[in-house]
Amino acid sequence: MHADALVVGAGIAGLTTAARLLQLGLRVDVVDRADGIQAAGAGIMLHPNALAHLDHLGPALAAAGRPIARQITTDPDGTAAALDWAAVWGGDRLPLAIQRRTLSDLMLRHLPPDTVRWSAEPTGLTRADDHVEVAFADGDTRRYGVVLGADGINSWTRRHVDPAARPRYLGHLYWRTTVESVPPFDFDDWRIWRSGGHFFGGMPIGGGRHHVFLQAGLADPPRVAPDRAYAEMAAIAATMGPAVDALVRSLDPEDRYNVRPAQGLSVERWADGRVALVGDAAHSFSPATTQGGAMAIEDTSVLADELARHGVGPAALAAYQARRLPRVRDFARMARLHGTLSSAVQARLAPGRTPGDGTPTGSAAWFRRLYRPLMDAA
Ligand SMILES: Cc1cc2nc3c(=O)[nH]c(=O)nc-3n(C[C@H](O)[C@H](O)[C@H](O)COP(=O)(O)OP(=O)(O)OC[C@H]3O[C@@H](n4cnc5c(N)ncnc54)[C@H](O)[C@@H]3O)c2cc1C
Repeated sequence: MHADALVVGAGIAGLTTAARLLQLGLRVDVVDRADGIQAAGAGIMLHPNALAHLDHLGPALAAAGRPIARQITTDPDGTAAALDWAAVWGGDRLPLAIQRRTLSDLMLRHLPPDTVRWSAEPTGLTRADDHVEVAFADGDTRRYGVVLGADGINSWTRRHVDPAARPRYLGHLYWRTTVESVPPFDFDDWRIWRSGGHFFGGMPIGGGRHHVFLQAGLADPPRVAPDRAYAEMAAIAATMGPAVDALVRSLDPEDRYNVRPAQGLSVERWADGRVALVGDAAHSFSPATTQGGAMAIEDTSVLADELARHGVGPAALAAYQARRLPRVRDFARMARLHGTLSSAVQARLAPGRTPGDGTPTGSAAWFRRLYRPLMDAA
């Protein structure tokens, strides 16, 4: 046996899986077909249910990001609704916003050197009773106790577990970049300006940077060539009113803008014998929930737990699926509610809302009902 586990993919799910399994004393190989970390130039929000499972990264994680206390959503008429994240999560728990690259670097540095083999990908799996034989693109063949597909929404590994599952477009195209935290991107909150089914926003992510994004509601998303990314974003921003138009005009057209459709995916079979899926390979939700990475991180804790309980083999992977599927199904229901109701609730039900005067109002109670179940043990 070459190692106890092969992890395919070195994203958030793969790197966290490797850390968890190494903690158990297992031998782990990670391969990624890219030639290095793929974290796009953008930020990520880590909610407390994700942070609860990242304790192995120590205080360096909190030091590298920025806790987000409030989210302020502003309408074109100047009306603003404020969401108090401490009230949503309870106690002193706040989400942490961090640059993706910084998070991935922290996760990679936590692993022993050479745990990840870059520019390496599997091309074939052959199952036996007591191992899986994996063929790699370079002609090598190795045996593992289990194979864990953490290879993202277009997972290769998924073909060997649930070949029928397919991602679907959720009706939103996303633009993301990061900018230096200087005016007008010097605010402390998570700020969103919404108009005409589009959301433009930003938040501080530590390291003197702000994450900036546009979520455009487009039934039929255009293919955006990289050299047209800023221009297409600016064209949508121009329809969102003067505030958003001015913010987008202040961005540098020469910066790199990551453009990606929001995709949903639900996979009913996560494990088959000695092969299982983790993270986006198994599930994907609207990015508006800012929970996809958190769900991936939760997966890894449960997977490690079951491998510790049952040993390296099919029983652990079946137990992992049995624990995670209901949680992720519940979350998928929440994600649908988030998508269909959040606009309506913020617009009509925010208590004490004062149209037009720009005073932030509160809508934490509704969000608390939505997010608090995620505080339950994964
Ligand atoms: C616009 C947007 C905003 C988001 N914001 C948030 C947020 O704020 N908070 C949050 O928690 N989540 C957020 N998410 C979701 C989050 O980004 C994902 O859930 C998370 O990154 C999934 O991680 P992963 O490791 O499963 O997959 P990925 O990050 O896709 O990693 C997969 C890895 O596998 C490698 N790979 C792929 N195929 C192969 C192969 N055949 N062989 C070898 N390697 C392979 C890839 O190179 C890659 O490194 C957002 C998503 C989007 C699109």
